[in-house]
Amino acid sequence: MKVIPSKILYIDLSRRRFWIEDRKELFEEWVGGSGVAIKLLEEECPKNANPLEPENPIIFAVGPFTGFYPIASKTVAMFKSPLTGNLGESHCGGRSALAIRMAGYGAIVIKGASETPVYLAIHGEKAYFREASAIWNMANSYTVGRILRDREPGAGARTIMRIGRAGEKLISYACVVTETYRHFGRLGLGAVFGSKKLKAIVVSGRRSLPLVDPKAYREIYKEIFTLLVESPSMKKYHELGTSMNVNPLNELKALPTRNLKEANFDEAEKISGESFAKDFLGRRLACAHCPVSCIHLAALRMPYDSEPYFYKTKMISYDYETIYSLGSMIGIGNPKELLKLLDEVEALGLDAISTGVALAWATEAQEKGLISINETNGLNLKWGDAETYLKAIRFLVNQVNDFYKALGKGIEYASNIYGGKEFALAFGGNEMPGYHTGLAAHLGFLIGSRHSHLDCAGYSIDQKIVATGKKSTIEELTEELINEEAWRQILSSLVICFFARGIYKPELIIKAFKPLGMEFTEDSLKKIGRKILKAKYEFKVREGFKLNKLRIPERIFQTSAPAGEILKESIAKALSLAEEKLTNLP
Ligand code: SF4
Repeated sequence: MKVIPSKILYIDLSRRRFWIEDRKELFEEWVGGSGVAIKLLEEECPKNANPLEPENPIIFAVGPFTGFYPIASKTVAMFKSPLTGNLGESHCGGRSALAIRMAGYGAIVIKGASETPVYLAIHGEKAYFREASAIWNMANSYTVGRILRDREPGAGARTIMRIGRAGEKLISYACVVTETYRHFGRLGLGAVFGSKKLKAIVVSGRRSLPLVDPKAYREIYKEIFTLLVESPSMKKYHELGTSMNVNPLNELKALPTRNLKEANFDEAEKISGESFAKDFLGRRLACAHCPVSCIHLAALRMPYDSEPYFYKTKMISYDYETIYSLGSMIGIGNPKELLKLLDEVEALGLDAISTGVALAWATEAQEKGLISINETNGLNLKWGDAETYLKAIRFLVNQVNDFYKALGKGIEYASNIYGGKEFALAFGGNEMPGYHTGLAAHLGFLIGSRHSHLDCAGYSIDQKIVATGKKSTIEELTEELINEEAWRQILSSLVICFFARGIYKPELIIKAFKPLGMEFTEDSLKKIGRKILKAKYEFKVREGFKLNKLRIPERIFQTSAPAGEILKESIAKALSLAEEKLTNLP
């Protein structure tokens, strides 16, 4: 017997129908998570589909380790991205993965669109289409969560995914907020929800999972759990979270600052993980079935506007990427101001990285006279001016004029209209993450299927180069990035959080499969990883993506990076090598 999730719940929002199919063979061949999701996306998404039309499906997939092993806590979402026009893939923890599996599913496919606002309540084998007009237009996604928590059963075991105003307004980088503080952040899943008039999804279930070899399972579980709780890197994730990276990257001169005009922020210490922990840390949270608990919440005491000496304490999540994008990237060094910005993007349901990078581009475009004060709706955007940025974020979500409408489609789009391409820091259409370490980081953003730092972690190759002084050839670098991304397809098909990639090595994964009745070798796993990466690349190409046509923002050549000069010729060569390798992946 093989213990694999094999059932797929199909939902048709247009006809308000649902049905369940058993697709065991799909999970056997493509494992789960990213592997299964890309195949379902190929099946369900017609070529050249408009990302904001009913034809664009939303796929959620979990993996065979979900519910069995710690930190297999992510859900993969796939869709066609309204931001890049090709592959949309986003991963989220919270309780999402466990709830989907405990409801009895390996994947959920959502098709069509509703004519009126709706939210989906999936409780085990039943799916309910619930009227959502009363929570549509609600200004704050926290409040929507609170209402759904009161209305739906399954407390403690359910997941609640919902969009904010940004998703309703179809902002191309709107996110989906899960359990508050966790997100399907990147590439605009929130806008796809919004286009389907889908406000939220609640999933719950209380199944139990069978085992082939309980004794072997207990042993391997103990081994993984011990590795996770005793690992020094996991301990750091627990203590400071990813915000532990602010100071080191700043010292390295790799922290993008003021739209990457610089890579070193003079106020970094004040917004570092250490300072946040000392002055604001109020709580740590974990995704379901994760002993690491890396989610850090700051407690911010804020006065009520009209009541003197009355305060509310807000819990606001922070991590490295959000500190970079709404901190150093727009020159915010005051931690309280930064937290207010983070709170606003959470309430509105925006991707914090894209929002910060969009504001940074707009600030420089206004400095250079490319956009006027009329276009910003009366705002004079200035580095470090959080009050003005808060207003700009609200104008953006309310889409008050043509400028904010363009900005809501991402800076690739906005810079096509207003100029400033050379400092529009988007790669493959996706706003850049917080690493200006060197060539490998930027190549990773370009080559990676999601144009994210998580695809192949080029920044860590750069940091190794800085530490050892040992450079790689362009051929070696490209190979290393693609191999890393191919291996990560296995992790994301098992839906293991990438933070545990140093623990879930091939030999451990092979051992962990056995009590579930499955046999793999390192070679067979790696082969599946390459196959999944190839399928993702083919989907992108099918939708018009061309590696050798990618725009490279000039700014990355102008601001020096710690791993050495970034040369245009090196990038051009790497892109053409990558194209050849990805096309011919075995
Ligand atoms: S390490 Fe953090 S992000 Fe990863 S599963 Fe655990 S709590 Fe979630």
